[in-house]
Amino acid sequence: MTTLPRPVEGCPIIIGGGLAGLMAALHLAPQPVLVLARAPLGEGAASAWAQGGLAAAIGPDDSPAQHLADTLAAGDGLCDPATAQRIIAAAPALVDALARLGARFDRTPQGGIALGLEAGHGRHRIVHAQGDSSGREILRAVIAAVRRTPSITVWEGVAATRLVLRDGAIAGVLARAEGQGSARILRASRVAIATGGLGGLYEHTTNPSGATGQGLMLAARAGAALADLEFVQFHPTALDIGRDPMPLISEAVRGEGAILIDDTGARFMAGQGRAELEPRDVVSRAVWASMQAGHRVFLDPRAAMGARFCTRFPAIAAICAGAGIDPARDPLPIRPAAHYHMGGIAVDHHGRSTIPGLWACGEAARTGLHGANRLASNSLLEAAITGRDVAHSIAGTAAGRAAPLAPVEAPHSDDLAPVRAILSRHAGVLRDEAGLATAIAQLAALGDQNDAACLALMMTVAMRRRQESRGGHSRTDFPATDPAFAASATLTLDQARLMARDAARPRMAPASAS
Ligand SMILES: Cc1cc2nc3c(=O)[nH]c(=O)nc-3n(C[C@H](O)[C@H](O)[C@H](O)COP(=O)(O)OP(=O)(O)OC[C@H]3O[C@@H](n4cnc5c(N)ncnc54)[C@H](O)[C@@H]3O)c2cc1C
Repeated sequence: MTTLPRPVEGCPIIIGGGLAGLMAALHLAPQPVLVLARAPLGEGAASAWAQGGLAAAIGPDDSPAQHLADTLAAGDGLCDPATAQRIIAAAPALVDALARLGARFDRTPQGGIALGLEAGHGRHRIVHAQGDSSGREILRAVIAAVRRTPSITVWEGVAATRLVLRDGAIAGVLARAEGQGSARILRASRVAIATGGLGGLYEHTTNPSGATGQGLMLAARAGAALADLEFVQFHPTALDIGRDPMPLISEAVRGEGAILIDDTGARFMAGQGRAELEPRDVVSRAVWASMQAGHRVFLDPRAAMGARFCTRFPAIAAICAGAGIDPARDPLPIRPAAHYHMGGIAVDHHGRSTIPGLWACGEAARTGLHGANRLASNSLLEAAITGRDVAHSIAGTAAGRAAPLAPVEAPHSDDLAPVRAILSRHAGVLRDEAGLATAIAQLAALGDQNDAACLALMMTVAMRRRQESRGGHSRTDFPATDPAFAASATLTLDQARLMARDAARPRMAPASAS
């Protein structure tokens, strides 16, 4: 193991090269910073896959207060209102800042920014780019800015595999170049995790395949508290054409009027609230129920859009064409897929975790914006603004003194397949006690060294602990929302192990009253 070359010795390290990590790096300038990104910038990041866009209350009929109200309603009692208010208020200025960086947002014929509508939003407020390539265009502009900022060093193809602690505080990062066996310790007393989500832990997911919550396990193994791990958002309309990851059909397609039908042609959401524009968890459960009843489910844009589909959603249309589907003539086969994780590393308003020297931002963090359920297009916003906030907090924190570090054992690579099978079977759209208890036992048996299994164990313990249904967490045995659970809940790895052991203990039979 070697140490970091001199120019970046002692500088903060950001783990993750998506929107959150890169915005943090840009906001640290001119302070030197090292970014570790497992894949080349622009690849392997969910940020580049975002289709719908970025929510910002910039329409003439809109206000941050209305955006906040929609966000809190979707969050089902678990948002942190102060955090949500701060992030949402920053959205209009963020759109200007991204445009100044070079992001080419779609415009109206009059030159204003065109605004789309998505489920759960009461107003047209989704800023998009090149139709459905919003994330790619935003990230392109941000990457270009990073490349021309001399204080930012980016190591692409390098993964963080462990955090190194000294006296309970962050002292370094164990990192490994992808495809190489040997790891090295990079000394740093200020580290930010921006590694994105964990949908790759499920068999059906829209996330990049590397999105398996590695950053959450870095934090958890260091002893940090994670929060709200039970809240996984399933996107109701992943294109079901046998691909892994599954291509996403953006919410914006429903915003344009596409309807959900089953294989008999029945529109099964008709008459329910805002029908297809209900929040994602409601729509996912309806699609799931239809599938459980033996149907195939389709998204049907034909009447609403016809041939216009191909110009409004060119990237989705191209994927459909590759599968022999013409959205102007054919309904699109869909199913729910793990899409976004509302939970994550527990952080305060500055992005600080429970470990001194460790910050988290973007999807890897539980910031408090989303609560129990994320409103569509609020996460690019969250990534950009929490990246900024973490940078400000790091910049205001003095670097610790360099000290010798003990060698750290590099982890083995995980076998994901059994973890994906267990979570998909027992911890999907609908959950219950028997399934979760089975999952916990099976995950515990996969061993303590398997990072993915340990994270999945923490998730299923959190799902079992929350004996109610709220937002993205649906228990068939506890279908009601229970005010007793109206709070965010943290969990450490040690606590999860103890609770898993308790779950496995045979229950004493109650004494019979004779
Ligand atoms: C298909 C799809 C469509 C979406 N559409 C939208 C949308 O329209 N609007 C919206 O707001 N949100 C959308 N989202 C969600 C949104 O894209 C993400 O929540 C957001 O981009 C997360 O940004 P991030 O920077 O936190 O993570 P990411 O962009 O996922 O970046 C994570 C980075 O961490 C790196 N990394 C991971 N592990 C390690 C490691 N151990 N060491 C080093 N690097 C590591 C990855 O390589 C990557 O660079 C969508 C998500 C998906 C999957």
